Amino acid sequence: MDFNLPKEIEDYREVVRDFVDTHIIPLEADRSNYDHHENIAPNILKATQDKVKAAGLWAPQMPKDRGGLGFDQIGMAASYEEMNRSIFGPVCFNCSAPDDGNMFVLNRVATQAQKDKWLQPIIDGDVRSSFVMTEPHPGSGSDPSMMLTKAEPLGNSKWRITGHKWFITGAEVAEHFILMAKTSEDPRKGLTAFMFHKDQPGWEIIRRIEIMGPEEHGGHCEIKFDGLEIDDADRIMEVGDGLKLTQIRLGTARLTHCMRWLGLAKRSMEIATDYVEKRESFKIKLADRESVQMMLGGLAADIELGRLITMRAAWKLANGDFARKEVSMAKNHVADTLQKAVDTALQLNGARGYSKDTPLEWIYRYARQARLVDGASEVHKMVLSRFYRNERDKFWSWGL
Ligand SMILES: Cc1cc2nc3c(=O)[nH]c(=O)nc-3n(C[C@H](O)[C@H](O)[C@H](O)COP(=O)(O)OP(=O)(O)OC[C@H]3O[C@@H](n4cnc5c(N)ncnc54)[C@H](O)[C@@H]3O)c2cc1C
Repeated sequence: MDFNLPKEIEDYREVVRDFVDTHIIPLEADRSNYDHHENIAPNILKATQDKVKAAGLWAPQMPKDRGGLGFDQIGMAASYEEMNRSIFGPVCFNCSAPDDGNMFVLNRVATQAQKDKWLQPIIDGDVRSSFVMTEPHPGSGSDPSMMLTKAEPLGNSKWRITGHKWFITGAEVAEHFILMAKTSEDPRKGLTAFMFHKDQPGWEIIRRIEIMGPEEHGGHCEIKFDGLEIDDADRIMEVGDGLKLTQIRLGTARLTHCMRWLGLAKRSMEIATDYVEKRESFKIKLADRESVQMMLGGLAADIELGRLITMRAAWKLANGDFARKEVSMAKNHVADTLQKAVDTALQLNGARGYSKDTPLEWIYRYARQARLVDGASEVHKMVLSRFYRNERDKFWSWGL
């Protein structure tokens, strides 16, 4: 057994860490670097992305012949954690959700022609993308079989889409959309995936939903489809393979959230530690108080446990396994750890933690979504319980 990273990945990780320290973290302190929704302003983002490209650090998760560095999930785990030590980090490297998951699945399952048309512009950073699945009540949320948005064949190699979606991240700036729609009543083969472009008629954004936290570019939107026509050539995979596509996308996409959230958790600890190392109360340095050490020591261990289960899931995915148990365990553990890390860091910073002088309040508001997005924690526990009831002692096994 060998826990060392391959040299190419370790070298990249170190360079990314330096880049984030030198070029990205300093941007956080100046409010003029933020857009209206508390993310990095578009002009600052473009300038930083240009620096990332010039440094040869762009899109490490994409194949070399499409402009990336060809890393698998192991390389992603090691480097995404470093990128998200800054709240602005991942998008500067083209490693942020939802583009990251969209690029991953298109690269995995689309035809060459579909990749040239829909994937390459996202890799190049020329367009942004969205994944369109969740629906308001009574449609699909945790349970995809409740999907109501329909794709009906028109008989001329086109499909007609009608339906209602919401919480579609990035929709206000996205140009390329991956849409999940119902094509039959079959419980396993009833969904199909399609691509559409923002300029196609027959759909509209009803509103950008206001949320408690800072927003990804393009927000989280509610969308209506009323006769959007999609060419059959823009169907991804076979009719009825929508659930399969979702599983392929979500395995890695969920895990990339964990990789990034670990970076935010580590940054929270860094800010807390810097403060308690210099701050005193009642003639004792905060860092020398046992109660504070219990907090920081416990957090350090929780973060390391999150890194281990995340890397184990990454290793399984990189070796062709769906890693469903490991991804669910990582998703829940890391979501809880992120919330605990930032809450602890905020508390240890006193009033300063509640201010906008550090990114802690930003991370605190952002972190609450972690237990909801890409599967609520309860649903992941349900999945784990199913696995355990089927596998019993084999639930805990080594290898693939
Ligand atoms: C910030 C953000 C970004 C998002 N981005 C996207 C996006 O880009 N594209 C997209 O398609 N969707 C997106 N979503 C939607 C997200 O994937 C769903 O919110 C999630 O799948 C849960 O679905 P739901 O909200 O309909 O919850 P519901 O299905 O209504 O469930 C509500 C609650 O019930 C409980 N629950 C549900 N099922 C079970 C169960 N089996 N056992 C026990 N308890 C259960 C859970 O506590 C759950 O939180 C986003 C959501 C958020 C918050």
